[in-house]
Amino acid sequence: MTERKFNRRQFGRIGVGATAMAFGIGVRTDSDLRNYLGTLFNEDVDHRFINKQALLCANECGDAKIPFSLAFDTGQLPYKLLVPGLSKANYPDVPDGWDWKFIPMLAADGLPPPEPKKPERPKWSREVLLNPVFKGPSDRPLVALTVDDGYFNRDEILQTIVDMNASATFLIIGSVMDSDPNFIIKANNSGRITWGNHTYTHMDLSAKSVDQIQSELGRTEEALKRICGATTIPVMRPPGGSRSNTSIAAAADLGLRTFMWNVSGDAGTQWTSNNPQALVNYYMGLLDAQTNPWGSIVLLHFRTSTSAALPGIIKGIRARGMEPVSFDKLYEGGRV
Ligand SMILES: [Zn+2]
Repeated sequence: MTERKFNRRQFGRIGVGATAMAFGIGVRTDSDLRNYLGTLFNEDVDHRFINKQALLCANECGDAKIPFSLAFDTGQLPYKLLVPGLSKANYPDVPDGWDWKFIPMLAADGLPPPEPKKPERPKWSREVLLNPVFKGPSDRPLVALTVDDGYFNRDEILQTIVDMNASATFLIIGSVMDSDPNFIIKANNSGRITWGNHTYTHMDLSAKSVDQIQSELGRTEEALKRICGATTIPVMRPPGGSRSNTSIAAAADLGLRTFMWNVSGDAGTQWTSNNPQALVNYYMGLLDAQTNPWGSIVLLHFRTSTSAALPGIIKGIRARGMEPVSFDKLYEGGRV
């Protein structure tokens, strides 16, 4: 068998031998392939680049029960990998007992570059911090999942995100952090959550002084740091979206950029947990109405009706070929 460079266009349905070769130098045999995939599996890979057209079906791989039969619908990369026995996320097209997992594209010279579990927080210049954001970079099929306030259903919402293998940014009011530090620790330890600043008392910042604004933001940052060692920097969202040039600059002085949203609406009283699909449909309608939904910033709140709808919202985002992620993932790689 001669080696060749990986060529995504050449794949139709292929057998393991051909795949092992196509995976590139360093992965040449069935057992190499199994070992490689086993490594990925054990690492709890959290790769978010998805392409629903490529599917890698898992069957068995040594102790870890990992892939064997492989079926690519197209050669597009990276793959989705089906592995058995993960969370009970609700994917209609996945057989019982199996769940999606994402694996990265393999480079022609062997193993893929390692990816940190949590992306580095963006580091922006003051000039960038002074630019409020309504929608993120649209070069990848990602949307930022952001959840504000923190009054209700904290555990349920976190559990859904963990169970469905998603990630998100929580913008929890500082006083709520101090009232339930155990939740903050648990969320931080989940590895799925990054943080943003939403003031300490949910203060309307639009007509406040620099000192008042920075006190609210500073207390919240201090609370998060004290509770779990994490930071809200560089993400803040003004309560109610109320902002001013003063608030934007006062936040920027603390290293915080003002994040708005382009998809929201769960705060209305019309939503109930009895009919979560109505809220799901509403959010999907907003995404579908975007010229390009990639990079959308989805605003949700810790509410009972939102908690009930969240599995459907995540599923709906994925059904549109996108992945719900934290701000950090959306902006990784020096994006602004
Ligand atoms: Zn709020």
